[in-house]
Amino acid sequence: MARFYSFDGIDGAGKSTQLQLFCDFLRQRGEEVIVCRDPGSTELGEKIRAIVLHADDSVSIGPRSEMLLYMAARAQLVDEVIRPALATGKTVVSDRFLLANVVYQGYGGGLDVSQLWQVGQVATDGLAPDLTFLLDMPEELAAARLGDKLDRMESRGAEFRQRLRAGFLAEAEKNDKIVVVAADRAIEEIQGEIRRAVDD
Ligand code: ADP
Repeated sequence: MARFYSFDGIDGAGKSTQLQLFCDFLRQRGEEVIVCRDPGSTELGEKIRAIVLHADDSVSIGPRSEMLLYMAARAQLVDEVIRPALATGKTVVSDRFLLANVVYQGYGGGLDVSQLWQVGQVATDGLAPDLTFLLDMPEELAAARLGDKLDRMESRGAEFRQRLRAGFLAEAEKNDKIVVVAADRAIEEIQGEIRRAVDD
């Protein structure tokens, strides 16, 4: 059966690293894997990504507008990439999904968390990952891994990133499809835990 996985967590926690190893694993098992990133992976989504993550400060983006830009990118991603892939039996692995929007704009930005999930329902047309791997670690260690490579959202400071981490963990508490993986460990050890979670 076609499966949909996502990876999430604060920047620097190792999402991209673990996602790539996970795709290798799935392909070795004979699955056809489509990788995408949210926001992104469609023409519209990449344009929106450039606006929300790399906009210069001369463009004013209010919190609700920002949230809806992310939602629009995701709606396009679902329709153009994820649903068609799942419909043809492929496995989809996404670098972030709706959860990140809820955490960054809700816990980080102060928008109402349950409203974000509601708008997300519309944007995703009800499609949710079968499993989300939440890579969790102290924000100062994640930031140290990245050095000065933090993007517009993540460059808002340590206090902001701590709220993000707490938000991710709070959502994981409420949702058993979110698997919390301690990310402050060796790469292979983390990957081993992710692979075992899939087999379970
Ligand atoms: P993210 O996609 O979550 O921002 P990355 O996978 O890009 O994180 O990793 C951020 C940085 O940390 C990269 O330089 C990567 O090589 C390094 N890294 C990833 N996982 C680990 C790990 N388990 N231990 C040490 N360094 C790591």
